[in-house]
Amino acid sequence: MNYSKKIDRNILSSKKNGWTPGWFDCDRFDSELIDSIMAFQREHSLSDDGIVGPITYRRVKTHRLFEEDFIPKKRNKRRGEKHIVYGGNKFPIKWEKVILWDDHGGLPAKEGCYYDWSKKPLRQPIQFVNHWDATLSSEACARIINKRRLSMHFLIDNDGTIYQMLDIQHVAWQAGSKLWNTNGIGVEISNAFYTRYQSWYEKRGFGPRPVITSEVNGRSVGPHLDFYPVQLDALAALWAAVADAIVIDLDVCTTKGVCEKCTSFTCKPFINHYNLTRNKIDCSSLDMQAVLKKALPLTV
Ligand SMILES: [Zn+2]
Repeated sequence: MNYSKKIDRNILSSKKNGWTPGWFDCDRFDSELIDSIMAFQREHSLSDDGIVGPITYRRVKTHRLFEEDFIPKKRNKRRGEKHIVYGGNKFPIKWEKVILWDDHGGLPAKEGCYYDWSKKPLRQPIQFVNHWDATLSSEACARIINKRRLSMHFLIDNDGTIYQMLDIQHVAWQAGSKLWNTNGIGVEISNAFYTRYQSWYEKRGFGPRPVITSEVNGRSVGPHLDFYPVQLDALAALWAAVADAIVIDLDVCTTKGVCEKCTSFTCKPFINHYNLTRNKIDCSSLDMQAVLKKALPLTV
């Protein structure tokens, strides 16, 4: 693709996502901007096509929040629900803090960014997809996915607070294809991934994140930031509550990469985003068996 085509693509992307050339220290849409985007992409180990697509947008937005010393709102101090919502009904979860989309301080999915199934029969999802959000907090994640016109059922914040953005009955645009979305449920566990963001967590009082090297599709990933233990406890409670509510097996896929059986719904219900597509590496560091072991005693 030549420079002028790339410039056109970036003008479209900037209108859609609300970024400006200033985010890359440039003042207009020109070849200098393309070079600057490419430099940013190389610095973040992204493919350097010079176009601000969805992945680059998320990275640059996170980078800006970090530079601006983003402070999440103090919305997590309040007592939360002890339920998740499926088909308009509340189902119990063995976790202290769940904040629903319509609670004070909730993070609702944006209208028009999911398939509204309120007039349809009860949806019966068969797959639960784990993602990491590659940004600083669930609040930042909600902003990014709403802006990108995507959606997610659940978010898990740095302190283990679970946000439900959307009734499980509705179809979230989370897994990358209509078939997977229609049959799935998604969670984004907050984790900014790059070790350069460690100082933000320490400054905000969350303490340092574990740093590890993981593997997906036979390739080494990292070293990168990993989840906090409290996030994994929250995830285990969420898996158990979801398995009880929608009545699916509480069991996991352990393939460390694309899994043909996952892509055709013949695998275990609890999977990672990387099981569905080669383009994704989340959540390469998640020990599925360890979370499962924690989740099993939490079912009703
Ligand atoms: Zn599988």
